[in-house]
Amino acid sequence: MGDVVNLLDHDLDGLSAYCEGLGEKRFRATQLFRWIHQKGAKDFASMTDLAKSLREKLAGRAEIRGLPVLTEQVSSDGTTKWLFDVGGGNAVETVFIPEDDRGTLCVSSQAGCAVGCRFCSTGHQGFSRNLSTGEILAQLWFAEHRLRERLQLPAGERAITNVVMMGMGEPLQNHQALVPALRAMLDDHGYGISRRRLTVSTSGVVPMIDRLAQDCPVALAVSLHAPTDALRDQLVPLNKKYPLSELLAACHRYLEFAPRDFITFEYCMLDGVNDTLEHARALIELMHHGAGRGLNAKFNLIPFNPFPASGLRRSTASAVQRFAQHLQDQGFVTTVRKTRGDDIDAACGQLAGDVKDRTDVSRRMNRSPIPI
Ligand code: SAH
Ligand code: SF4
Repeated sequence: MGDVVNLLDHDLDGLSAYCEGLGEKRFRATQLFRWIHQKGAKDFASMTDLAKSLREKLAGRAEIRGLPVLTEQVSSDGTTKWLFDVGGGNAVETVFIPEDDRGTLCVSSQAGCAVGCRFCSTGHQGFSRNLSTGEILAQLWFAEHRLRERLQLPAGERAITNVVMMGMGEPLQNHQALVPALRAMLDDHGYGISRRRLTVSTSGVVPMIDRLAQDCPVALAVSLHAPTDALRDQLVPLNKKYPLSELLAACHRYLEFAPRDFITFEYCMLDGVNDTLEHARALIELMHHGAGRGLNAKFNLIPFNPFPASGLRRSTASAVQRFAQHLQDQGFVTTVRKTRGDDIDAACGQLAGDVKDRTDVSRRMNRSPIPI
């Protein structure tokens, strides 16, 4: 007998194809998919209304294989961080952020990250490997059902209403595994997350932004962090390959597939590096007269979350305020991200997991001072 198939590796179409291979109709696959994702079933025996013949076929051939949980930490504000073992000495992190009107899960897409941004602790760790669709989905599958239990939600009520691909890794460098995972998240038979409540965040992998538009045009967040190529080259090394003009052109193309939408630009606020009024003016110039002209855009300022090896400092509250005010005065909706789960190191860019660097990114990383 061949390898045991992990059913978490499939979106509904994939599961239907698999079931057809076993001689089963699509509606059986839908039933199975609902058991797995809506009810959080871990084994086939519990799927009481699923034909016995199918349950027998699945036994031994397939399984629902989640990720081993290494730790669960709950912050005083309810933010919860899980560390999952993905084998080979690697671990990834997933964070749940409760708010009054929603529950957001921040999901990882890779063990480590090869982009190597200066201000990101995942980037400093280097890259080990892409997660599979099943490993991406397992984070949501586990968290949703764990939270329903903990929060004792009434049947049918969901704990997680929003998903952001903002954990460890660059999701668009793992496009192939990402897309079926997104589809399962969107599926009404799966998690029923609406397209605008599912966000992919990217450091700017231009060709893959176009692919995502074709395959699954969910909400897009772009990690900008700098108004000029000279500075962005220093902060986000991928900028040397895909400079701002190409990145912003890709944003324009993306919105053609998601018309009434907007792009969220994330901007990590680094003291003295990218947070002065000159930087804010240069950013407005880029958005009003440069490659960003006419783009429906919002800004999300993220005060830098420091970690020891970065050698960088968080912007002062007044610098963040001044920067935000300038963007707002020029007509851009601008939010400042609140830091959540401080006491458990669950904030953006603090997700370090535990990664066996296989590419030596951390050694190659440019550690020279950033020209201000
Ligand atoms: N790789 C993707 C998604 C993961 S990072 C990306 O870069 O977009 C999610 C967000 O957190 C990104 O905007 C990233 O730039 C930001 N971030 C990374 N490290 C940070 C830090 N130390 N402090 C604040 N934000 C950080
Ligand atoms: Fe990778 Fe995103 Fe961190 Fe940059 S900010 S190193 S792209 S995870």
